[in-house]
Amino acid sequence: MSALKVPFAFDINHNLINADEAKKDQEYFCPCCEEILILKKGKKKAAHYAHIESDICTQEKIICQAAKDRLKNVVNRWKNKSLKAPILVRECHSCWEKVNQALPEKVDAAEIDFEFGEHQLDIALMANDEVLAAIVIDIGQTLDEYKPISFGIPHISIDGWKVIDNPTLWQVELDAFRLFVCKKCKMSFRRFQEKVLRVSQKTGINIPDSYYRYSITHCWKCRTEFIVFAWPEHGHQTMDKPRKEPVPSTIQYRFSKTAGHKYWANICPQCRMIQGSFYLHGEPGSPFCNIECEDDMTSYQKDMYRIAYYSENAGDIY
Ligand SMILES: [Zn+2]
Ligand SMILES: [Zn+2]
Ligand SMILES: [Zn+2]
Repeated sequence: MSALKVPFAFDINHNLINADEAKKDQEYFCPCCEEILILKKGKKKAAHYAHIESDICTQEKIICQAAKDRLKNVVNRWKNKSLKAPILVRECHSCWEKVNQALPEKVDAAEIDFEFGEHQLDIALMANDEVLAAIVIDIGQTLDEYKPISFGIPHISIDGWKVIDNPTLWQVELDAFRLFVCKKCKMSFRRFQEKVLRVSQKTGINIPDSYYRYSITHCWKCRTEFIVFAWPEHGHQTMDKPRKEPVPSTIQYRFSKTAGHKYWANICPQCRMIQGSFYLHGEPGSPFCNIECEDDMTSYQKDMYRIAYYSENAGDIY
């Protein structure tokens, strides 16, 4: 096996230096094992540091270690007031637009390789000596290993190469921080809620506060405007009764000619016709298109923002 080629290394002051900016008369160290590296800088080949064959260090580990170091460094400098807060680039859950969000002021330190229960966190964001959130550095292979892990704390993953490129702009990939919805979508959620309230009062259909996702539609038969519901088992023409009581009055166990059997369906409060699950879920622009409908509160909140977004942006196609 040939020696490892390393693109960056620490100088004697622990600054991360790119090989093409390194000087021949100085010493450089592996970001991972801190062994001395040999600068290779010639006319023909791209500059790099050579690392002697190692059982500990791999290219990925070195990138990962360098990225962690850069992140910690940026957080330190922010806390010393020599830099602005690092920026998280997150995707709005409703509209998928990327939005910049400054790291909250309450974060007061970043720790590398922090032992947390049975996990070692690449980066732990701390507040008053307690772990607030974790960052996973993804260098192509690590993400799959992390996916099944539930840290029990908010966490995100960011690409290690991008961190090294620009450690102040954190391009969030896997986002398991608190649900993030942009300002525009929060406004449209409020408008949606007001509209729902009006229709609720007009039709006498009560709005539950969990489990049942809701939206507004027009009956396909009589065009009455009313509130329809989706719940975790809905959408599959289920014969199981919804698990949360009270069941809204417009959800009934009814025979459907299309399905050929009875199932729990939304019905129109005016003409009593079944509003088929395909009509509500399946078509693009339908009120419950693209929702998760998992049986937990986070999924419920996510779905409600998504539904509000669709109600304004899918166009009133009915
Ligand atoms: Zn090394
Ligand atoms: Zn949005
Ligand atoms: Zn109707």
